[in-house]
Amino acid sequence: MPSASPAITPDRLLRQQVLALHAYHVPPSAGMLKLDAMENPYLLPQQLRDEIARLVADAAINRYPDAGAHSLKEKIRAVTGLPQGMEVLLGNGSDELIQLLALAVAKPGATLLSVEPSFVMYKMIAAFTGMHYVGVPLNENFGLDLPAMLAAIRQHQPALVFLAYPNNPTGNLFDAEAIVQIIAAAPGLVVVDEAYYAFASDSFMPMLARYPNLLVMRTFSKLGMAGLRLGFLAGAAAWLAQLEKLRLPYNVGVLTQVVAEKLLQQHDVLLQQAEQIKRDREWLYERLVGTVDVRAYPSEANFILFHVAHAGKVFEGLKQRGVLIKNLNGAHTALADCLRVTVGTPEENERFIVALQESIHQSV
Ligand code: PMP
Repeated sequence: MPSASPAITPDRLLRQQVLALHAYHVPPSAGMLKLDAMENPYLLPQQLRDEIARLVADAAINRYPDAGAHSLKEKIRAVTGLPQGMEVLLGNGSDELIQLLALAVAKPGATLLSVEPSFVMYKMIAAFTGMHYVGVPLNENFGLDLPAMLAAIRQHQPALVFLAYPNNPTGNLFDAEAIVQIIAAAPGLVVVDEAYYAFASDSFMPMLARYPNLLVMRTFSKLGMAGLRLGFLAGAAAWLAQLEKLRLPYNVGVLTQVVAEKLLQQHDVLLQQAEQIKRDREWLYERLVGTVDVRAYPSEANFILFHVAHAGKVFEGLKQRGVLIKNLNGAHTALADCLRVTVGTPEENERFIVALQESIHQSV
């Protein structure tokens, strides 16, 4: 048997864009108070958990899922209040939908444009799909720099623009009027990524009918279903019918379909949890603002970005105390000495604040 040539190595075979990537980093968190990933900290009521257990027991996991996920889609339409005539496309998390959108438009030389700092997967997925990426810096308050955005759109003619609304990791909602101007100026699709819609005071969902190049993307991850992996894209049928061709046939599994549908029947339970998280976000924000050496940024999401001297040391101090948050120092120049904490339960938030104060004290 001839053996494979030793000259076949990743370095030689893979695209330069892939070789240059660093895999999305998920730090170990066993035994830690986990406030790093914008998860909902609440379990479901026991009765609902029992109902889910029964549904899972009866689910036909020997069969492929309903490829069109018809029943789940209906539920999503109902709870979303989708505007007349709009369709939905389901993804295995909204990450998958970002990739699907990029795949669809990635003609040679096509550009994906977003802002910085923002969700890192926009840039990574541009690399996955061989797209040219442009990241327009936000202004010093993490707002949109509209003249810079319009100039970049004119220069790069992006096929795809992503705007996270609210933005991750900064937590703010961009100026809606500026987004409208971007949609009007864009020569391609503009995707408003509403991953944090449940905690925000505004949405572009009602605007879908008005702008033919607008799509709105959401995930159920932050609403208490991160482990299920379910996101959706909403927009005009003409777009979604084309994008649907790129969706892998069974991307949303039997268990996700069954459990998500059940949870969406109990949507009010999840929304009440989101309301609680919003109230606790205000408590946490006040406590951060009142902590010496901390500058906290207002948030419309379920996390808060804050600046602290010696962020690296403070982050390590928190870890030593069993609290895991996100260290953004080094992620982008605008995020120097910035950390991001997810809003937890009131007890978790209290524990975080105590650990933070100790860590700051220790780091000076
Ligand atoms: N968009 C934004 C802005 C996010 O912050 C995230 C998760 N961090 C996602 C999309 C992806 O979420 P998921 O894949 O869990 O749906």
